[in-house]
Amino acid sequence: LLLHLEDRKIGDTNGTIGSALTQNRKIFDELEDLLQTPYFSTYKVDLSDKKCPLEDDGAQCANSQCAIEPLSFGDIDEKLFQSQFLGRLRKDSVHSEAPEGQDDSSYDQSLYHKDACSDVNYCFPEDESVDSEGVWVDLRGNAERFTGYQGPSARNMWGMLYAENCFSYNGDEDATKNNEKKENIVEDLAGIMARPAKREMDAWPDIDTQLDLPNDCIEQRLFYRLLSGLHASISTHLCYNWWNATSEQWEAVLPDWLERVGWFEDRVNNMFFDYALMSRAIYKLIDGYGSELVYSASSNTIDNEVRDALSRLGNDLRSSPLADAIDEQGLYKMPGTAALKTELRQRVRNVNMLMSCVGCERCRLWGKIQTAGYGTALKILLEFPEKASDDPELTKSLLKSFRRSELVALMNTFGRISNSVHAADVFKSQAEEEIKEQ
Ligand code: FAD
Repeated sequence: LLLHLEDRKIGDTNGTIGSALTQNRKIFDELEDLLQTPYFSTYKVDLSDKKCPLEDDGAQCANSQCAIEPLSFGDIDEKLFQSQFLGRLRKDSVHSEAPEGQDDSSYDQSLYHKDACSDVNYCFPEDESVDSEGVWVDLRGNAERFTGYQGPSARNMWGMLYAENCFSYNGDEDATKNNEKKENIVEDLAGIMARPAKREMDAWPDIDTQLDLPNDCIEQRLFYRLLSGLHASISTHLCYNWWNATSEQWEAVLPDWLERVGWFEDRVNNMFFDYALMSRAIYKLIDGYGSELVYSASSNTIDNEVRDALSRLGNDLRSSPLADAIDEQGLYKMPGTAALKTELRQRVRNVNMLMSCVGCERCRLWGKIQTAGYGTALKILLEFPEKASDDPELTKSLLKSFRRSELVALMNTFGRISNSVHAADVFKSQAEEEIKEQ
């Protein structure tokens, strides 16, 4: 474990694990405070399984820890969601002007914006309009933690998510080959899931290796690394907030974390990769676009508070080496890789959609938020120009359809992965203490 958490390069990025730990110690409390504000903790989400593309396996978590408590409408500050699109409408900005006869602050942006850029989305952003399906949730009262959701249903779900990692690299011929591979993998996974759950190091087929992904091609490895990092992060949360039924206390359980994450160098690495990716995406958004966004069209106070808090975070991220950890400018630019980007987008969307199938409401909530958060990060990294002024027309159309729900998902996902890095830091100290005592 100590070797896995030493100061080494995070795989394909420019960042290091040491930089991530240092940055996280600096911003952890600030980010926690930000996520405690009503703006970032109030989220509308469709928790129904209507969009689940899989057959219902009938497995629903009956444990009370799996349930979430929605907010009643009267508890929500309407100012938070009156304008769900954040594109600035000022006449002196690079963005669209309000239609004639309507001033900037009062007109309903949702009528005007539509989803002009939905084809560049890497997720299905939640719709906050009054008549959309879904419930409002206070994320502070519905924390991600151990719920007891496990067994064949949970493992099958992970299997379906990893099975999305079958890219059709070079045209139709390979697509057929990859579909065959995908079928084999799903079969393998089904065989493993039929056995009682156990955490042997070799129990799971190494999907990454089966697909012959070249080690040096970040374009092809990105999807797997993201998903494995998310998996490691979710495992970390449930070990860091583990319900001890005997003492009736929430506890951090080092041995369980080691078994699920800590002993596996690649899982630790992928988790830190996700942290570096989120840091880079958030820095790019705040630095390049922060002044272009209107966080609340109906309350100057909320708008200023959010702007100031994000700007403080942006300043802290600027001084960290992780601000440049991902060199996204070079990604998907090589001949033949553009199609991979389209496929990546589709597969990340599929993963977001598959979250509607998770048989535990609380896990589904956080699964949906985090896949929307990673989707938004990828959109910022791979579709947004470096700065608004680099391509005003493209910026205009991208920001017009940028939703509050995407920003909230993005920041909460950063909060989750930051929490995992914090937990890894704590587990590392615990392990060091134990070694000293022996
Ligand atoms: P699992 O975590 O189910 O993993 C299955 C197999 O995947 C392992 O045997 C291993 O070989 C492989 N694997 C494990 N980690 C990685 C990795 N990082 N990279 C690559 N391969 C890996 N439970 C909760 O208590 N709270 C939650 O909030 C929660 N959220 C969830 C969200 C989703 C989307 C899903 C699918 C499940 C969630 N669960 C949650 C369940 C939890 O993730 C585990 O599935 C459950 O605890 C059973 O764990 P397990 O030891 O059987 O292995």
